[in-house]
Amino acid sequence: MESHILVTGGAGYIGSHMTLALQAASERAVVIDDLSTGRREAIPAGVPLFQGSVGDAGFVGDVMDRYPIGAIIHFAASIVVPDSVTHPLDYYRNNTANARTLIDCAVQRGVPHVVFSSTAAVYGEPDRTPIGENLPTQPINPYGRSKLMVEWILGDVARAHPLSYAALRYFNVAGADPEGRTGQSTPNATHLIKIAVQAALGKRDGIDVFGTDYPTPDGSCIRDYVHVSDLVAAHLDALRYLRAGQPSITCNIGYAAGYSVLEVIEVVKRVSGVDFPVRLEGRRAGDPAVLVASNDSAKTQLGWTPRYDDLETIVRHALAWERQL
Ligand code: UDP
Repeated sequence: MESHILVTGGAGYIGSHMTLALQAASERAVVIDDLSTGRREAIPAGVPLFQGSVGDAGFVGDVMDRYPIGAIIHFAASIVVPDSVTHPLDYYRNNTANARTLIDCAVQRGVPHVVFSSTAAVYGEPDRTPIGENLPTQPINPYGRSKLMVEWILGDVARAHPLSYAALRYFNVAGADPEGRTGQSTPNATHLIKIAVQAALGKRDGIDVFGTDYPTPDGSCIRDYVHVSDLVAAHLDALRYLRAGQPSITCNIGYAAGYSVLEVIEVVKRVSGVDFPVRLEGRRAGDPAVLVASNDSAKTQLGWTPRYDDLETIVRHALAWERQL
């Protein structure tokens, strides 16, 4: 049988965009997802789904016995920063320990490549912006630490075994498939653009701004919002890079442009034409003030070429998806 790409978390927000992009690139995908937040319907027809945990070595091994795996793209994880502050052990299990099991399975079966979803949260409160990959990693919350540990595991494993990896440090992923086939569907999503479009569509009674006393021009936090379709394209680029025999790499995925929470809300109001209520609240636990990527390595090393580098486009696609949900 031809080799497959194992997509963990393939029923989730980013993973579902990934399986569509893999299909478009004529790659064969197989999905593992525990469906804790993912949706079966998000997986395109023809892509097999195995429901279970990547932390269950027997289960992962069975999937790998059925499908020869040429690479793993590992999305399955918990992703809510404040949640990681209140439930750190869940994050260290789901994000760190389960990834260790998955990587162990990859080594046992001789899987040559892993693309790992890391995060800008590994940088903590960087003292410079934009953030280059060479800046120190000093995460300020359990979420960032749970992901950074996996980067370390991958680094050590790649030195000891014939496996290469790309750790992609995502900045703030948002938007939806431009063709409207999938999008962010988690019922209790907490991410800013999702919440703001829900407020615009009357699914919420407005939005809370968590902190207006940060050392930024308008006092709200600044983030680098990257379109989910550009993000998954970076994974295809990373696969191509690793298959070409290039060394393991850690690189940021963002547009090198920052927007404040208040600016994002203004864009959502403008694009939707709805002036929803905005409440200025206190800070949320674990939020750094400014996170903006340097993306030189993604562009030069992986050959990443963003196509949707525009906040209005991201918001337009997020709104279109939210409308049809
Ligand atoms: N945020 C906000 N209101 C919300 C959701 C998020 O003010 O309802 C802020 C949050 O405090 C942070 C920024 O928006 O400063 C981005 O948060 P998000 O949860 O989208 O992503 P994170 O950067 O935490 O991964």
